[in-house]
Amino acid sequence: MKSIPNLQENIRIAPYTSMRVGGTVRRLYRPESVEQLTDLVLSCREEGVPYLVIGNASNLLFPDEGYQGAVISTVGIKELSLQGGKIVASCGVSLSALSVFAMEHGMDGLAFAYGIPGTVGGGVYMNAGAYGGEISDCLESILALTKDGAIRTLSREELSLSYRHSRLQEEELLLLSATFRCEEGIPAEIKSVMDRNMASRKEKQPLEYPSCGSAFKRPAGQFAGALIQEAGLKGFSIGGAQVSEKHAGFVINKGSATAEDVKALLAHVQKIVYENSGVLLEPEIQIL
Ligand SMILES: Cc1cc2nc3c(=O)[nH]c(=O)nc-3n(C[C@H](O)[C@H](O)[C@H](O)COP(=O)(O)OP(=O)(O)OC[C@H]3O[C@@H](n4cnc5c(N)ncnc54)[C@H](O)[C@@H]3O)c2cc1C
Repeated sequence: MKSIPNLQENIRIAPYTSMRVGGTVRRLYRPESVEQLTDLVLSCREEGVPYLVIGNASNLLFPDEGYQGAVISTVGIKELSLQGGKIVASCGVSLSALSVFAMEHGMDGLAFAYGIPGTVGGGVYMNAGAYGGEISDCLESILALTKDGAIRTLSREELSLSYRHSRLQEEELLLLSATFRCEEGIPAEIKSVMDRNMASRKEKQPLEYPSCGSAFKRPAGQFAGALIQEAGLKGFSIGGAQVSEKHAGFVINKGSATAEDVKALLAHVQKIVYENSGVLLEPEIQIL
């Protein structure tokens, strides 16, 4: 494998994740360009090294036993530019930085992304959304490394984007960069929407504790948090993992949670909510 800067070996992954759980990973790489990322992934494939590309790990639950392969974080790959009236963002750009950039350039449609602690890669993978908007609204296309090693442009229509779902979840597609086309807007007005959304997050979400955001997807026509609360589970905990007392849709780490605690709590919530309401909640958190 070519030499890549920012390699750490046998490192505890927990501090690098939003949930602050997970054991030791054999290698953690943080490439700083799309070229380094591509070289690294191709080398892993050639050498048969298991690898996992992550963004900000804000929706990932790493196992307590860790990962015996290469974890490749994209957070150092942050190119962001305006090209022909469109925004081109590389995979590691934070969704908040993308949102601020759009606002500053008078481009409307990405205010919803302000405050989502993920990257462009993780955001498209999850079709992240909030406050009535989602990534698919202004995504035009992505540049991706395919399973067979080709670099291809895929249009929004080819990405099967729906609620918290994209084609990236179904096949090996590594997002290198994404192009967004926005409506024209007035920066001050866009900023006031961003500020309002952020104030709402701070008021309603347990941001003072580690979490992965909403633990479960929203079931059609209902809210996961309301179903969990109605089932009497607000504040319920297993080990160090707890259903937040502030927002029942969040599972938080009270300080000493293990991945097993979080998984056991998710399973318990699913079971009790199903018994109480007949609704089977589907985890939004990606469990490795
Ligand atoms: C406090 C808090 C609030 C949140 N609020 C919201 C919210 O309002 N709305 C919302 O939708 N989510 C929310 N989330 C969840 C999370 O931030 C999103 O799912 C986000 O899109 C994940 O991005 P990430 O970069 O952290 O991805 P990661 O968690 O690192 O990875 C998620 C998945 O994406 C894949 N992936 C990452 N980068 C790439 C790439 N370049 N190419 C291919 N696959 C890739 C990974 O392999 C993994 O399977 C919240 C989380 C927290 C902690």
